[in-house]
Amino acid sequence: MSIKLCLRKDEARRHTLAAKRQGKKIGVVPTMGALHRGHLSLVNASSSDCDFTVVTIFVNPTQFGPQEDLASYPRNLDEDLDKLEGLGVDLVFAPSEDEMYPAGQSTRVHPPKVAEPLEGQFRPDHFEGVATVVLKLFHIIPADVAFFGQKDFQQTRVIQQMSVDLDLPICIQVCPIIRAADGLALSSRNAYLSELDRKKSASLPQALKIAAEMFRAGKTDPEPIQAAMLEHLSQAGIEKIDYVVLADPDTLLPVQSVVRGTMVLIAAYCGNTRLIDNVCLG
Ligand code: AMP
Repeated sequence: MSIKLCLRKDEARRHTLAAKRQGKKIGVVPTMGALHRGHLSLVNASSSDCDFTVVTIFVNPTQFGPQEDLASYPRNLDEDLDKLEGLGVDLVFAPSEDEMYPAGQSTRVHPPKVAEPLEGQFRPDHFEGVATVVLKLFHIIPADVAFFGQKDFQQTRVIQQMSVDLDLPICIQVCPIIRAADGLALSSRNAYLSELDRKKSASLPQALKIAAEMFRAGKTDPEPIQAAMLEHLSQAGIEKIDYVVLADPDTLLPVQSVVRGTMVLIAAYCGNTRLIDNVCLG
């Protein structure tokens, strides 16, 4: 079966509802395209768990800050469709900006509290844009399960909390981070990295590994763990670090004492490219 491409909301919704009426379990994988193995792992999770898989491809302008990379964000729908071939995808929804946000729309979702720290501090309107577009996508594609990557851990918490708070009838499934051979988490933005910055970028997963090893060795004070991570990043030539935090997995606020399940989260720049990564301890 070939993949059905829908550019319009009403068409995508009609096809999804038709599958639902046949009793099919619907899975949705929201993406911004420039697909890589990380995205495809979510697609595989959906097609093995669900009977009808929808992939959405939309570079959502409302989640980019004014100084961010909206204009240069990689877009290639034909390549993305080729990558999805043979993975059990039934429908791709790839709307234009006007289709998603017709002129005059101004309603926005105020994200939950868990959106405030970390990314919320450095990208002030980011999660408002994410929550708004994800809620819209959930209405356009009334799926049973939505698949998200742990790569964007705070995003998964924001969406889980929004789904609980707004009683959304959808299950949020979080899938593991897919990494390159040297440990760098795959990301569409890795394409921006120069050869030198790509080498430096391996220091992010290395710093997470340092945290995991110190925890395994019995350290429970977050400060020396954070210090060792910062030292490693700076030795590797990472000059700009937004945060290196050991945080509670529910609130994402810094912990006083590290326990199994504590999240370690990093946001840092390699050259001009902002990278994020995380690990769950234990
Ligand atoms: P994006 O296209 O960056 O908005 O990402 C779409 C979805 O893919 C999000 O749920 C991301 O968390 C997920 N994702 C991105 N990179 C990875 C990765 N390396 N491993 C697993 N999931 C990922």
